[in-house]
Amino acid sequence: MNVGPYKFSEFKELAVKFHGYAAPGLLIGGYMTVAAKAALPDGVLFEALVETYNCLPDAVQLLTPCSTGNKRLHVVHYGKTALSLFDKYSGRGVRARVDPGLLGPRPEIRAWIMKEKGKEEQDEALLEQQIAEAGTTIIALQPVTVDLSRLNRKSDGPLAFCPRCGESFPAAHGGLCRGCAEGAPYSVPS
Ligand SMILES: [Zn+2]
Repeated sequence: MNVGPYKFSEFKELAVKFHGYAAPGLLIGGYMTVAAKAALPDGVLFEALVETYNCLPDAVQLLTPCSTGNKRLHVVHYGKTALSLFDKYSGRGVRARVDPGLLGPRPEIRAWIMKEKGKEEQDEALLEQQIAEAGTTIIALQPVTVDLSRLNRKSDGPLAFCPRCGESFPAAHGGLCRGCAEGAPYSVPS
């Protein structure tokens, strides 16, 4: 089954270019994304909320204008294979998830979802084949209203120069930038 405007093989190539390899979660995430998008009314300015950092955010970034960089892609790590696309202003939208009840006789997908097999044990070609055959038929959709107050949409506000490192940072963070105040997330070789 095609993944939106792409043949399955084309989407796999896109996945390799963008993600490094055609991860099963990205392929299934592609179908989740197109299923949710098709269920939104035409012309809605939408954002995305993805419930895991694994793979799915990249499916959304490949198939919609929502990205982390434009802040239309929100990720919360609940470790769930689920995503919602929703109206930016009202929060109303559609949540997509893989429904185990819709899997039918597709043991490789089931084993992958439940992580029943190690990567070496998993028959990757068969898994891909089952994903491509199943397409959007294993995706369950439900209407949802996303709680917009829980999304990180605040602007950084005015900037200031940090008196210690000299770099600009949001003045609301205090007298020093967070790197200087709390320790930077890197060290510099001496
Ligand atoms: Zn600083």
